[in-house]
Amino acid sequence: MHVEVTTEDLTEQARAGRLASLAKSVRAGLAFAVGIALPQLCAACREPVEGEGLCAACWSKLSFIAPPYCPRLGIPFPSDPGAGVLSMEAIADPPVYARARAAVRFDEISRTLVHALKYGDRLDLAPTMGRWMANAGREVLAEADALVPVPLHWRRQWGRRFNQSALLAEVISKRSGVRVVHTALKRVKATVQQVGLARSERAANVQGAFKVRPQAQEAVKARRLVLVDDVLTTGATLEACTRALLRAGAAQVDVLVFARVVGPSRILI
Ligand SMILES: [Zn+2]
Repeated sequence: MHVEVTTEDLTEQARAGRLASLAKSVRAGLAFAVGIALPQLCAACREPVEGEGLCAACWSKLSFIAPPYCPRLGIPFPSDPGAGVLSMEAIADPPVYARARAAVRFDEISRTLVHALKYGDRLDLAPTMGRWMANAGREVLAEADALVPVPLHWRRQWGRRFNQSALLAEVISKRSGVRVVHTALKRVKATVQQVGLARSERAANVQGAFKVRPQAQEAVKARRLVLVDDVLTTGATLEACTRALLRAGAAQVDVLVFARVVGPSRILI
């Protein structure tokens, strides 16, 4: 027997439900078709690429940070000044965190990777970026009790569906064996985007923006922690997070980022 169900037979709710499930299966079908038909594209130049998410040409343009560098800030030195010598920046304006390490310099090419991960749904980049971070941070990770990702405000996290810092921390954790405390910090103030703000405005913008959750006190108190984020520009966000962790009794806070600004930079993130 043939039963015809017309739209008039359906309630508004059922119709919406049918549409939603139709949209879902169309999306799933498309993702499947695209996955089969298209090779992975280079995150920077969009050329087809095998494996790592970045083609050989773009890879060679990345500026990896290697010693010699400032033991506090991780800023590369043009020549080796000898063990323990700090950069002018570290002496003139010492950060509240103990040490910072970064995998690469923040420039056009690394910005493309950061943006692809953050806004472009290129979650496939996280294992590679996290691996470079684990290498760059070997020294601070060797002494760490736990990793703490810089949290997004929940409103922003809902819009974006994931926190790129938490994703990178997971990869670093797998490679280093240092556990991640995902819920240590809470963003209590929805800050405006730091892009385009001056250094002093950035600091004011994030002041008091982070708190240690009461249930995370145990995981923070007397621990050596490594804050994980994608980019360090002025360091205002990471300093605000460090202050919150130190107030909650952390023994030491180091910082590990994918990319950091080195020297004067007009590149906006
Ligand atoms: Zn490329």
